[in-house]
Amino acid sequence: MLFPLYKTDKVLSTFTSIKLGGRASYFFRANNLWSLRLALKKAKLKGIPVLIIGEGSNLVISDDGFDGLVIKLELRGIKIIKSEKACRVRAAAGENWDAFVKKLITNSFGGLECLSGIPGSVGASPIQNIGAYGQEVASCIESVECLDRKSLELVKLSHDECRFNYRSSIFKKDLTGLVITHVNYYFDKEYIPEIIYPQLRVDLEQKGIHIISCSIKALESIRASVLALRIKKGMVIGAKDSYLPSVGSFFVNPILTNSEYAELKKRCLSLGIKEEVPFFEIGKGKTNKKKVPAAWLIENAGFSRGFSKDGVGISLKHALVLVNNGNGTTKALLSLANEIKKKLKDSYGITLKKEPVVL
Ligand SMILES: Cc1cc2nc3c(=O)[nH]c(=O)nc-3n(C[C@H](O)[C@H](O)[C@H](O)COP(=O)(O)OP(=O)(O)OC[C@H]3O[C@@H](n4cnc5c(N)ncnc54)[C@H](O)[C@@H]3O)c2cc1C
Repeated sequence: MLFPLYKTDKVLSTFTSIKLGGRASYFFRANNLWSLRLALKKAKLKGIPVLIIGEGSNLVISDDGFDGLVIKLELRGIKIIKSEKACRVRAAAGENWDAFVKKLITNSFGGLECLSGIPGSVGASPIQNIGAYGQEVASCIESVECLDRKSLELVKLSHDECRFNYRSSIFKKDLTGLVITHVNYYFDKEYIPEIIYPQLRVDLEQKGIHIISCSIKALESIRASVLALRIKKGMVIGAKDSYLPSVGSFFVNPILTNSEYAELKKRCLSLGIKEEVPFFEIGKGKTNKKKVPAAWLIENAGFSRGFSKDGVGISLKHALVLVNNGNGTTKALLSLANEIKKKLKDSYGITLKKEPVVL
């Protein structure tokens, strides 16, 4: 049967990386555009709210579940178009992100190798403009194809229309309007990887690896180093001895103007924190801003790694990662997140923003 909109008993914790979330009233796997359209249409006719999910690695769903239709996007397909100067790749939303990166590397398409090991789907990659180790997906996105939930028409957004920013895009702000069905990537043949993230540079140097081209070997070396660093930080799902269910970083690193940074330094001194407040420079000249690691702020505000409460806690590997110890609830997770948020506001005057989508 194609799509019976029958009540279901699907438990959503099975579909989220943090293994939290109650039941969905209705559940459907869409593996082609036609069935996706039909599911959206039926939900619209019945007046049922819809939640689109990819691999659930950036989602925190209420213990009460989702009283509506959950559509798991499983559209597949990767098409590579090579020309003299560049390569273009059109990938369907349901493709696994890390497998996609691996495929790009085996084709020597550079630009996204530092995003190795990030969980999730291709379709979700533009939503928060996924990024890590000095790269962001937006740098290789040419356009994004979507299905408008209201009109059920296909629309294509150019790179500029996506309004990419640090962990954000038009999709993050307007999640209800569009379902991403395909992402079109562009890879410059002249590209040479530039290793800007200090830890990654050191790791490659220690291994005696010098990146001078975009060869498969060079991209594979970067991928291997990135994966090793991610495992150390508990950022690879399923990695032995290092991973507890999470959504990765729970908060976005705050971006401060120079005067806000100076104010933060003063606050830290008055709190008796002697260490210099770390930062990464963003932008150049007058517009430059500073990205401050939220993990550093959290640890210096008194929350230690391994802290645990009501079945949830802070990862032993990384203070920015909140984990489900196996018997947690969404309520306990959000309560811990709010406790951290309040402490940081009181201590430093900084308001942390949540990175995952919370329902
Ligand atoms: C261990 C771990 C490490 C992580 N590390 C990083 C990291 O280094 N950098 C980083 O940026 N992120 C990181 N993340 C976050 C996460 O992997 C990414 O945000 C990823 O892109 C989410 O993909 P998903 O398919 O799981 O999305 P989901 O969690 O399924 O969905 C996220 C949101 O997007 C919506 N959505 C999903 N697919 C679509 C679609 N096709 N169309 C419209 N809306 C859609 C959903 O409704 C939801 O609101 C990490 C997560 C974990 C668990």
